[in-house]
Amino acid sequence: MSGRARVVLLGIDGCPAEQLSPSLTPRLWAMGADGGLTLSGRAPLPSSTYPCFATLLTGCLPSRHEVRATARRPGVVPGWAGQPQVAVPTLFDACRAAGLQSAAVQGDHLLHAVLRTEAADVTWPPGGVPPPGVPLDAHGYPTNAAVRPHLLAAARDPAIDFLFGHLNEGDTLGHDLGPDAAAARASYAEADRIAGELLDALRPAWTRTVVIVLSDHGMEPRTGRAPIDLLNSPPVRALVADVLGDGGAALVRPRDGVTPRDAGAALADVPGVAGWGGGDPGPIVAEAQRGWIFATPRLPLRGFHGGPATARTFAVVGGGHRAVPALARSMAARPPHLADWAPTIARLLGLEMPGADGRSLLEE
Ligand SMILES: [Zn+2]
Repeated sequence: MSGRARVVLLGIDGCPAEQLSPSLTPRLWAMGADGGLTLSGRAPLPSSTYPCFATLLTGCLPSRHEVRATARRPGVVPGWAGQPQVAVPTLFDACRAAGLQSAAVQGDHLLHAVLRTEAADVTWPPGGVPPPGVPLDAHGYPTNAAVRPHLLAAARDPAIDFLFGHLNEGDTLGHDLGPDAAAARASYAEADRIAGELLDALRPAWTRTVVIVLSDHGMEPRTGRAPIDLLNSPPVRALVADVLGDGGAALVRPRDGVTPRDAGAALADVPGVAGWGGGDPGPIVAEAQRGWIFATPRLPLRGFHGGPATARTFAVVGGGHRAVPALARSMAARPPHLADWAPTIARLLGLEMPGADGRSLLEE
């Protein structure tokens, strides 16, 4: 592949793959028809915002980048359950090392600290703090409309080689109202319109541009089932010291001397638990069945993610760069994991991303 690309990566937080359609998201659907589209992309577990975006921007799984949960609790994160910031280099670091300019324009302003975007040349909100007067959603994050002008300005700046944009509002509405609520669906449609404007803004340099739009995870509706309180089970409590719930997944710390296998067997017997993984080393990841959520102090009202049921993501590629048809073919043959995008983008930018767990979609 010759000719270094300009890469624009847009994450639409919590937009379920099943919400993509010609009627609700016409610009993304048309982009997929011209380029490529998959509704079968995969996310790591927990399928939760910070682990997923950390995987997207580093190419590493949570066991390596160490951002294992979006939830925070003193002594737990940071602590046995993981770290609040990525422990490995990001695409922003790789750009900086190679003298390329990058930008991070993010609706979830706290994601700047998670991804250590100080390595980027342009960040919004500046310093990860929304300026006074910026409209915020119900969870305190800048709205899609607030992000939009900054995203489009970065897209129009030809000096920026790699732009990462993030729209958060659909995740907030999905948690509060459910992914099928009219307001949540309207937000997915708004994100589609912004993605369309982004494509229009990129037209002047179309032949050197690759655009990737994807979700970090899906969203499932809350059901009437009681939350899974693992430490309420005596056999689990005998083997497990602590639990951090993150929607449909939970990070579990076995007591000293207890093997992951023994703790996992006790977890698997709890109603609503689908399975478990990890634990060697690091915490065990308990996985909930569809419709079940692990107990946390503040449960989302109507929608949640984290478990295997929301580890499916969509991804759409477009642009006029000559690598786009090969990317589309690769996506059709092998649905990408979020970890595959950083090595793919590194290759498009002519960068090295050594040590990534994912595999470039352009690898033959
Ligand atoms: Zn998210």
